[in-house]
Amino acid sequence: MILGKHVSIAGGLDKSLKRAAEIGCNSLQIFVKNPRGWKARDLSEAEVERFKANREKYNINPVVVHAAYLINLASPKEELWEKSISALKMELMRSARLGAEYLIFHPGSHTGSGLESGIKRIAEALNIILAETDAQLLDSTQILLENTAGAGSSIGQDFSEIKAILDQVEAPEKFGVCLDSCHAFAAKYELKDKSALEKLLLDIENQLGLSKLKVIHLNDSKYISGSKKDEHAHIGEGEIGKKAFAEMINHPKLKDLPFILETPCFDDQVDRDVILLKHLRN
Ligand SMILES: [Zn+2]
Ligand SMILES: [Zn+2]
Repeated sequence: MILGKHVSIAGGLDKSLKRAAEIGCNSLQIFVKNPRGWKARDLSEAEVERFKANREKYNINPVVVHAAYLINLASPKEELWEKSISALKMELMRSARLGAEYLIFHPGSHTGSGLESGIKRIAEALNIILAETDAQLLDSTQILLENTAGAGSSIGQDFSEIKAILDQVEAPEKFGVCLDSCHAFAAKYELKDKSALEKLLLDIENQLGLSKLKVIHLNDSKYISGSKKDEHAHIGEGEIGKKAFAEMINHPKLKDLPFILETPCFDDQVDRDVILLKHLRN
């Protein structure tokens, strides 16, 4: 099973790989800059080399990057929109330099301008990034749109919304999708039993094609389905429950995808979520 966790980059990007390996992961997710700010200092060549060396040493595959939360490609405000485009481009460059396979971002919030206009805005932004980025770079680091819990005016709680974005993108084949279990559950998808999971997968298949799905975020949910509240819980300790995760990680259509935990870190070096998931795997 390809299993990763979102780990800290405290002390340097290269430290993250050891952290993931120590808790028994063979994949990971990281931020490549402060996720709550716009600025980032340049990555040095030495840092990049250290990262790549550690990746080899700890055998971490794939490397997944999560973009900063401030980025809002759906914003109707010109300044924030442009800033967001530059920021995502910058994250893409950094991810590519590190050799990361995927860069995940949240589609964004229309903040009152309406769903349709927000979707159009995101597609326009992605088209700008496509036009301004070396095509090879987008092949080595693929940008993934993550489904959202649907809080406020956030876009992407339904896969039809992600489809609508990609329908307006000039090279949709360059982009993929990340499925977050907590977000899907909080938005509307019941995941508790097998038929509910099949319904979700059928929706992704019909809207996008399952081949678009590249990464799965495994998070339990503190709140009930339909709550639109995005709060991750440890696996089996939330409203989704252990059984649903066993179904997910063993499903023939999902089992070979990278599963990434975004649950809170435990105080010691033992990660109960990692242990539990390995136990649930057939
Ligand atoms: Zn996310
Ligand atoms: Zn997520």
